[in-house]
Order: sequence, then structure tokens, then C-alpha cells
Amino acid sequence: MTAPYGIIGWPLGHSKSPLLHNWGLRTSGLPGKYEAWPTEPKKLKAFMAEVRARHIKGVSVTIPHKQAVMPYLDGLTERATRVGAVNTLFWAGGKLLGDNTDVAGIVAPLAPHREAIGSALVLGAGGAARAACAALQELGVAEIAVTNRTAAKAETLAKDFGITAVAWEGRAARPWSLIVNTTPLGMKGEHQGKSPWPGDGFGHVGLVFDLVYNPVRTVLISDAKNAGVEVLSGLQMFLQQGLAQFEIWTGVKLEEKGARQLLMMDLLATGG
Ligand code: NAP
Repeated sequence: MTAPYGIIGWPLGHSKSPLLHNWGLRTSGLPGKYEAWPTEPKKLKAFMAEVRARHIKGVSVTIPHKQAVMPYLDGLTERATRVGAVNTLFWAGGKLLGDNTDVAGIVAPLAPHREAIGSALVLGAGGAARAACAALQELGVAEIAVTNRTAAKAETLAKDFGITAVAWEGRAARPWSLIVNTTPLGMKGEHQGKSPWPGDGFGHVGLVFDLVYNPVRTVLISDAKNAGVEVLSGLQMFLQQGLAQFEIWTGVKLEEKGARQLLMMDLLATGG
């Protein structure tokens, strides 16, 4: 482990983070390299000891470590505290801290649509759903609800954020100005070709944000577009959470257009 930046997760096959951050380091003329560090849960403690011993400059954290890393840190940002999960490790004043840039990744694409979002339904109740709820609350959305295959998890999340839980079976029964997919349905692999929303259920939906980004055009995105509904892709979230991480670690704001092109070209080349 010689690089000063990298990502931990298990497994790590699909991550585009090395592509984005190495491009960022190169184009900014900064030293260092960003690596992929597949880390089994039982090796997390040893990994965190290395982060301190080697003073690793920046770490992205993904499934299944987003909550498990928290006891190893010296503190959390306000956003990470609100979400209850961490996707970014960084150093400040000699302390190893955790942040959650997934929230910024959701806020940024939604901000231009803010005025049109009176009600929002979050599909799923895992880590990304928690980031989505924090983002929607930051944006001041008046009515926020969550729905999940496993109702008990939706109810816990609803309680934590002071929002409403809706039955999974009844999710499309009423109008929503925004739906946010935080389930893996549609993602490359076993979930590709599936959708968390009925294909004929877009009559009363104003905007669809699919957090899945590989492929970029999921069934949910296609169905929504075919129904004339505006869409936001998970690629926009991935891009924004990555740009926010890079800025935390280096102080450099990367050029958004170039970064988007880089990711789009890679996804197209790899069948996304
Ligand atoms: P997670 O904590 O494992 O949560 C997954 C959620 O999806 C759970 O609520 C789960 O429901 C639900 N789910 C799983 N399989 C399902 C199925 N077959 N039918 C219905 N619901 C199902 O995962 P996460 O960290 O929240 O991430 C979820 C997804 O968000 C990822 O797969 C990824 O595509 C996306 N994401 C995107 C970005 C980005 O930058 N664009 C960043 C983070 C995450 P149960 O509770 O019933 O199991």
C-alpha cells in the first residue's frame, strides 16, 4: 500500500473512483496515485491502522464499510453525523475525520429543480437512502417519504429522519414530484434489466433520480423518459460526490465538464 489515496470496499470490481481521481491528480499536476484497495470486513481494523501509520491522505469508503469505519475515526463532519455513515476519510489538524460527500452528490443535481419538488419518495432504506433523505432535508423539501422492500427498515429510517414510511406495494399509488431510486435494481449484473417502479406508474411523477450509474440508461430511466418524465442519472451523483472528495483532499476544484466526459466515455467503452 504505497499510494496516498484510494478506495476501500468489498468487493470493489465496478468502482470508477480510481479513474476519476487519477485523472484529477494528473490534470492538476499533483503528486500521488489513487488505488483500489479491496478490503474484507475482517481486515478493516488492520487497514485503518495502516491509514494512520502511513498517514494515507485520502480514502473513499464504500459498501460494506461506510458505518464500520466510524469507530476508527477521531471525528465526523456534521453531514456524516446526520447521515450516520461515512464515504470519505481525510486529515485535518492531525485528526483522521469522516465526511459524507454522497449528500453533496445528491444535493447538487437536484438544486436546479428545487422549486418543483414539493414531495419526494425515496425507494430503498440502505446507506444511499440515508444520504438521499439528508440531501432532501437540506434542500428543504416539504414532504419526504421512504419505501422499502423490507418495511421495518423503512420505518427505522423514517423515525431517524422524522419522515413518513410508505408501503412498498403502495409506492406508486399517489403523485410524487420526485422519486429517488436508492436500490440496486437496474444495476449492471444480477439486477440489470429490473426497475423499482412500475412501467405504467409515471402518470403522477414529476422527476426521476436514479442513483444507479452503471449502466447510465437503466430501465427506470428509459421508462421515465418514454413517459415524458424528466430524469437525473446516478452518474451525476457519482461525479459530484467524487469532485467533492477531491476538493476535500487537495483543495482543488476539478473541471466538471472534463470529468463528466471522462466517465461517460469509460462507461460507453465498457458497455454502460
Ligand atoms: P444498501 O445499504 O445495501 O441498501 C440497498 C437497498 O436496496 C435496501 O433498502 C434493500 O432493501 C434494497 N434492495 C436490494 N435489492 C432489492 C430488490 N431486489 N428489490 C427491492 N429492493 C431491493 O446499499 P446502498 O449503499 O444504499 O446503495 C444502493 C445503491 O445506490 C447501489 O447499488 C448503487 O447503485 C447506488 N449508489 C450510487 C452512488 C452514486 O454515486 N451514484 C453512490 C452510492 C450508492 P432491503 O432492506 O429489503 O434489503
